[in-house]
Amino acid sequence: DDRIARIASAIRVIPDFPKPGIMFQDITTLLLDPKAFKDTIDLFVERYKGKDISVVAGIEARGFIFGPPIALAIGAKFVPMRKPKKLPGEVISEEYSLEYGTDKMEMHVGAVQAGERALIIDDLIATGGTLCAAIRLLGKRVGVHVVECACVIELADLKGRERLGDRPLFVLVSST
Ligand code: 5GP
Repeated sequence: DDRIARIASAIRVIPDFPKPGIMFQDITTLLLDPKAFKDTIDLFVERYKGKDISVVAGIEARGFIFGPPIALAIGAKFVPMRKPKKLPGEVISEEYSLEYGTDKMEMHVGAVQAGERALIIDDLIATGGTLCAAIRLLGKRVGVHVVECACVIELADLKGRERLGDRPLFVLVSST
């Protein structure tokens, strides 16, 4: 698909952000190219339309950029998976480990029901820890069927895909 090359070239790489040695994949430049941004959304919509998905769960913060237009186009609801202490209602939360220390992801109680079919969306998968926490929250804790996880970019060397186990992962751009 020739749309992929345009998407890949619209993503800017910033060395040493947020700290030395990290090559940060910056998707804000993709958002500046309306054709590449639309192609990104279209590719996901083409894959998920008609798949009986009722929930698009977006991971803070950049899953909030790509998730809602996909949800609208496939006729699903959008559910934000947020950093701690952001959601005002009753939440369930799942802890996950980072390189140094731990973080938490929260979701509103009642936003999704057991048995619903969900797509989880984020901009990028690195180690896979973030997506695993989202899968636990939706799948194990609530009983949602996670159909697939989808990201714009995969940092393939970090083998996040393996960490997801048998949960399917779909990415547009694989970076090494
Ligand atoms: P993981 O949990 O897979 O190690 O890290 C993925 C999470 O970190 C995602 O929520 C993603 O937004 C963020 N992240 C890590 N590295 C990058 C990067 O280079 N670029 C962007 N845009 N996000 C990153």
